[in-house]
Amino acid sequence: MTGVDLGIPLVRRTTDTSARPDTSQLVDRFGRVATDMRVSLIDKCNLRCTYCMPADGLPWLKRAELLDTAEMNRLIRIAVEELGVTTVRFTGGEPLLRQDLVDIIGATAALPSRPTTSLTTNGINLGSFAEPLVRAGLNRVNVSLDTLDREVFKQLTRRDRFDDVLDGLAAAKKMRLEPVKVNAVLMRGINDHEAGDLLRFCIERGYQLRFIEQMPLDAQHDWERDKMITAAEILDRLSAEFSLTPDVAERGSAPAERWLVDGGPATVGVIASVTRPFCAACDRTRLTADGQLRSCLFSTTETDLRGPMRAGADDAELIRLWQETMWAKAAGHGMDSGEFAQPSRPMSAIGG
Ligand code: SAM
Ligand code: SF4
Repeated sequence: MTGVDLGIPLVRRTTDTSARPDTSQLVDRFGRVATDMRVSLIDKCNLRCTYCMPADGLPWLKRAELLDTAEMNRLIRIAVEELGVTTVRFTGGEPLLRQDLVDIIGATAALPSRPTTSLTTNGINLGSFAEPLVRAGLNRVNVSLDTLDREVFKQLTRRDRFDDVLDGLAAAKKMRLEPVKVNAVLMRGINDHEAGDLLRFCIERGYQLRFIEQMPLDAQHDWERDKMITAAEILDRLSAEFSLTPDVAERGSAPAERWLVDGGPATVGVIASVTRPFCAACDRTRLTADGQLRSCLFSTTETDLRGPMRAGADDAELIRLWQETMWAKAAGHGMDSGEFAQPSRPMSAIGG
C-alpha cells in the first residue's frame, strides 16, 4: 500500500457540501478561496536538514507511486484552467532532482491562463538549471539558506554543499528570477546568531530574506515549542542591528509579515506560522508527489487523486474531489489546541 512506511493517511474527510456555493473555484466554509497551488514533485532530497529529516533520509516513495509527467501536467491543468488557481509553486523534497522538472514547468507556463510559476529549492544545481528553467517560463525562485558559515551549513544540512547553494543563488539573480527570495530557519545554539549577517548578505546581493519559524513537520518529531526561535525573538535580534518599520504594503494572503530595513527599500520577512498564524487569509491548495490532495500543511487527512485518475476518472470527477476537499478545509492548523497532532507525513513529503 502506498506510503505505509511514512504512515501516510489515505483518508478523505467527508463534509456536507450541500451549502457549497455553485462555483468552480476552490472555496471553503470560511470564505477563503484557494488560488495558490503548491506542488511537491518529489519527496527525495540531496540535503538532510536537521529540522526536516533524519540523517539516514526517509523511506522514499517508489517510482510507481509518484505521479508521472502526464499525470502531474493533467492535475496542474485542471487546477489552473478549471479551478481558478493562478499561482503554481513547485517544491519537494528537492524539486531540482525531478528529471522532468523543466518539462512540467514548461507545460504549466504555457497553459492558456498563464499562471505565475515559482520554485522552492535548496539551490543545489540551480547554477546549471536556472537558464533552462527561465526558458521554460519559470517566473520566480525561493532558495533556502540558513547560514553563511560553511561548517554550520555542514552541521545543519549534513552535507558539504554550501558553495553550490551560493552558485545557485547567483544564477537565479543573473537570470532575473526575481524577486530572488531566501528562506532561513533559525535553530537555537546553531545559527540563531546569524540573523543580522544573513540579512546583510541578502541586502548586499539584492535577495529578499524571509525567516521561517521552525514548525512541527520534521520526520523525526523532534520539534519542541519551547526550543524554537520565535518571530518575536528574530525581530528582537534584528532590531539590535537594524531599524525595522512595518511595511504597510498590502500583505494579502502572503505568509510573511514584512519590515522595511533602515527605512527601505530593502525588506525582511518573517513567516510566523507557529506564533502568529495566518490561517484566516490562507489561499493554498496542495498536491503531493504521489497524487494526494491536502488543504493544509498540517492536514491529517488527504484525498487520493492518483487512484481515481489511474482507474479512469474523468476531469469532472477529479474536479469534484478537489472542490470537496477544499470545502472541508479546517479553519486553522490548531497548533495551540490540546488536540493538535503533528501530521504523519513530514514536510519533505508534503512540500513546504
Ligand atoms: N528542498 C527545498 C528547500 O529546502 O527549499 C524545498 C522543500 S523544503 C521542505 C521547503 C522549505 O521548508 C525550506 O525553506 C525549508 O527550510 C522549510 N522547512 C523544512 N522543514 C521545516 C520545518 N520543520 N519548519 C519550518 N520550515 C521548514
Ligand atoms: Fe531537503 Fe529542503 Fe528538507 Fe532541507 S528542507 S532536507 S533541502 S527538503
